[in-house]
Amino acid sequence: MLPDFLLKPWADRISSGVRLAHRTSMRVGGESSCFFQPRTALELQDFLGYLASQGREWLILGGGTNLIIGPDREDRPVIHLGEMQELGRDGRKVTVSAGTKLPRLVSWSISHGLAGLEGLSGIPGTVGGAVAMNCGGQFGEITDCLATVLVVLPGGEMVELTREELNPTYRSTDLRGGVVVSCCFELGEEDVFSLQQRAKEIAARKSLSQPLALRSAGCIFRNPGGKAAAAMIDEAGLKGLTVGMARVSRKHANFIVHEGGATAGQVLELMSRVRKEINERFQTELKLEVKVWP
Ligand SMILES: Cc1cc2nc3c(=O)[nH]c(=O)nc-3n(C[C@H](O)[C@H](O)[C@H](O)COP(=O)(O)OP(=O)(O)OC[C@H]3O[C@@H](n4cnc5c(N)ncnc54)[C@H](O)[C@@H]3O)c2cc1C
Repeated sequence: MLPDFLLKPWADRISSGVRLAHRTSMRVGGESSCFFQPRTALELQDFLGYLASQGREWLILGGGTNLIIGPDREDRPVIHLGEMQELGRDGRKVTVSAGTKLPRLVSWSISHGLAGLEGLSGIPGTVGGAVAMNCGGQFGEITDCLATVLVVLPGGEMVELTREELNPTYRSTDLRGGVVVSCCFELGEEDVFSLQQRAKEIAARKSLSQPLALRSAGCIFRNPGGKAAAAMIDEAGLKGLTVGMARVSRKHANFIVHEGGATAGQVLELMSRVRKEINERFQTELKLEVKVWP
């Protein structure tokens, strides 16, 4: 950053030497030399406008639950919306800031008798990250009941995009390269008890199939058409494969778990070994679901 950023009203929102490993569920990764936590969308707009004028690239970090960060120092500014966590309703319309934790949104909706998000029970992360990843699974995806999102584009302009404009597909939405700052969901109405029961059942099924007690980044690979990546990894006998303290989960073959002391390098090496084995055995190139920085 050039020294003139010190004159900006958001200069006090920047920290350096922030350990990114602590901001991810896999708990690996280096430090950020420029970690920006805006208080408002306006601060974010101004910051992105400033970076655009400098020709600087940047990164946006949510809950870090679908992210593997490499060991080197990250000099691109990292934006984090942890200060933006508002949540409110107007009838069946729920508006939520992108930094809000997804589990909080889900349980809040359930407790207000609002239906549509309970299928996301047990998925960690933030609302912004969830929309960026179109997170979900067999019980629905977050965009199913999404009406609109407010996105700050790379130059700092704020736009409202409808669900259709986001063009949601498997684990992806088109955010035009911008940052989600808030979302509006249109939910149904249902009695609280039956929503709670459904959420409990879904969370219980997840805890049977996913290694929730261990550090991980969720599913590592996208399911190639036709077959689940987990089934292929299992069939190839790769469950339990380790590199250092990183292991292919024995419970869910598409999860890599961190068994204490694993490094980013070990996780990345294990990912590439799995890809190589699957390619050799099934002539299928597994694509990443998880995001990797850099
Ligand atoms: C134990 C476990 C279970 C999981 N189960 C599931 C599951 O069942 N289904 C599923 O789909 N996923 C699952 N995941 C993966 C993960 O929780 C989701 O993908 C989640 O939505 C990611 O949100 P996040 O805030 O952590 O995003 P991050 O991991 O921080 O970021 C993911 C991507 O989103 C981008 N991003 C983050 N915030 C924003 C924003 N405000 N605007 C624009 N882009 C942004 C990041 O730059 C990055 O590219 C699981 C993960 C774990 C650890």
